Parts: sequence; C-alpha cells; structure tokens
Amino acid sequence: METIGRDLREMQRVPLTEAHVAALREAGREVRYAAGEALVQPGDPADRFVYVEDGEIEAVDVFTGDRLTNATMGPTQFMADISFLSGGTWSMAMRAARDTRVIEVPRERMLALMARTPEMSDVIITVLAARRRRQLESGNSSLVLVGEEADRDVRRVGDFACRNRLPYASYPLGSAEAQAVATSCEIVSDRPAVIFGRNIVVEDPTPDKVAKLLGLNREFVDNEAVDVLIVGAGPAGVAAGVYAGAEGLNALVVEDTAIGGQAGTSSRIENYMGFPTGISGADLVWRGEVQAMKFGTRFAMPLRVERLEQLDDATFCATFDNGQRVRSRAVVVATGV
Ligand SMILES: Cc1cc2nc3c(=O)[nH]c(=O)nc-3n(C[C@H](O)[C@H](O)[C@H](O)COP(=O)(O)OP(=O)(O)OC[C@H]3O[C@@H](n4cnc5c(N)ncnc54)[C@H](O)[C@@H]3O)c2cc1C
Repeated sequence: METIGRDLREMQRVPLTEAHVAALREAGREVRYAAGEALVQPGDPADRFVYVEDGEIEAVDVFTGDRLTNATMGPTQFMADISFLSGGTWSMAMRAARDTRVIEVPRERMLALMARTPEMSDVIITVLAARRRRQLESGNSSLVLVGEEADRDVRRVGDFACRNRLPYASYPLGSAEAQAVATSCEIVSDRPAVIFGRNIVVEDPTPDKVAKLLGLNREFVDNEAVDVLIVGAGPAGVAAGVYAGAEGLNALVVEDTAIGGQAGTSSRIENYMGFPTGISGADLVWRGEVQAMKFGTRFAMPLRVERLEQLDDATFCATFDNGQRVRSRAVVVATGV
C-alpha cells in the first residue's frame, strides 16, 4: 500500500504558496458556508476544487451524522480526493464544522491551472494519493458491503472495488456494524447488501451499478469525439493514456474489467524499470492511472468495446457493450493477449 501514496499521518504538510493561492482566487470564486452546512454528499459530482481560507471542514459519517475522523481541514488545506482528477463523484460527505470561507475552482479550470503549474500539481497530487491510501487502509468510505462472505454478487462488487483501489467498508452479516448500518438505512439486517451513502441501497448489486454511482462508468453524448480512444487499461493502455494526455491529446481509456489488466493481479513485479525493490502490479498501474488523469486522460469502466470501425482516413467509431458510441481520430488497441 505504501507504493500508492505516502502515509498521511506522517506526512509533513506542504501548503500551497501565496502565488498558487492567488491563481486559485483568479480562477475561482469565494464561497461561504455556515456552521453545519453540507458541502458535498456521497454521489455528488467531484466538479470543483475547494481551498479553505478560513474556518473548518469535517468528514461526516453518513450513517450517524458524527464527525468521521479527527482529521479536519482548516485554513491552507483543500477539500478534494482522487476522484476530482477523473471527474467521478464524491465518496464522502463533508460539511462546515464552523462558519467557513473557501475558494472554489471549477474542475476543468483547476486541471488547466495544474497543468500550467507543475509545482502546485505535485503538492495536490501527493496529498490526493496519500488520502486515497489512508481511505483504503481505514475502510472509511460511503460504499458499504454487508455479507461479502455469504453472497456472490456482493463479493463481485468487493473484488471490483479492491482491484480498482476503491475504498469500501465490509461488514460480516450479523456484526454490530452491519446491524447499525441496516438500522440507519431501514433495511433488513440479516441480508447481504451494498449501500452507498445513507440512502442508496443497490438492488441486485453489480460492479457496473456501483461504478455508475462512483462516476466511473460515464455517459457519453452519442458519437462524442475524442482524439485518442485506448481500448484496455492494463499497463500498455494506461501508459498510452499517460503519453497521449501529456501530449495534450483528449484521450479516453475504456476498460472492460479492472484498471491494471493482468498486471493488476500480480502481487510483485520485480522487472519494471524504476522500482528496484519491486511493486505490486495494482499499485504500479494505479500510479500510472493517476499520472494519466493528471494530464486530463479520462477512464471509463467497466465498459467493453464491442466493435471498432474505420469511417474514413482520420475517423474511427467504437461501439460499447451498452450501445453507446464514441468517435476518435486514433485508436490504441491494448487488450493484451
Ligand atoms: C499473476 C501475474 C504475474 C505477472 N508478473 C509479471 C512480472 O513480474 N513481470 C512482468 O513483466 N510481467 C508480469 N506479468 C505479465 C504482465 O502482467 C502482462 O505482460 C501485462 O499485464 C500485459 O499488459 P497489457 O496492457 O498488454 O495487457 P493486459 O494486462 O492483458 O490488459 C489488457 C486489458 O484490456 C482489457 N480489455 C480486453 N478486451 C477489451 C475490450 N474489448 N474492451 C475494453 N477492455 C478490454 C482487459 O480487461 C485488460 O484489463 C504477470 C502476469 C500475471 C497474470
């Protein structure tokens, strides 16, 4: 786990510089929240970067309404998690612990600013990666699985979340935690369930339904056009996503099962340049995914390319298993062997 990010508890915090904050002010707007007011709920689009100028923001346990951890965000800190890069949804509920003043920068403008300011981008991405690591280690998430041990569908969702480095909490049937969640959501306590936030109990749970709630399996405008469509998100597809994004191309990576491909199942890769002491395949590819997202590359999954057609010299059309279509100027097929 140490290879996906640093340990948030031991990290020395590096605040953004005055010049960075001035750039945020120029790109965004000031917003005030009264004590107790919600900033985001699980499932809300991660469409803005929130920098705290004054006051305090806390993570909230959606089931009890209590503060989730002792960690809150005060002046000079920012509210965002890795889903901000991908344009997914918030997985946590956040509210103002007291009257709070923030700068909010819309996502697209913030990504453009980060691309222009690598030093700022490094500070932010280091924190986002550390936060994701902390969330994975603590199981603090609004995605809750009950009865993974007893139900195949719930287990499939757990496998999907695990392989894609998505934080979730898993409680055995009959446990006190499962009972508390069931009471809070007003569902039967002795049945397996997948719950997102406080109100959404996922009926007949599948990875696809959970991916939609997390904003991972996006809706495309029919015949939406991108520069490069990359089919498959194993190491080859993710690497293509990094290089396409870094060249300023509008790139979309479509993955059928889980980011990481075959490498995602490897517990230790020893022969990859730059990792002399080895790295797990999932961590290696996760780092590449974050790097690609930093350059604006988008990922969609689980989504299968069913058909690829060349319409003319410079236009391809991909049809997905959900019937949606995307056009592109180039295609990289990285579906492995
Ligand atoms: C257990 C294990 C350990 C390994 N250890 C090592 C090691 O130590 N060192 C090493 O060098 N190699 C190792 N390998 C091999 C390495 O993982 C592969 O060579 C590498 O993953 C190939 O990468 P790739 O991106 O080409 O393809 P893949 O990793 O196969 O990825 C292809 C991706 O494309 C997706 N896909 C396929 N069809 C479609 C479609 N139609 N639409 C959308 N998505 C699609 C698949 O779901 C998959 O995620 C290991 C493999 C395994 C299984």
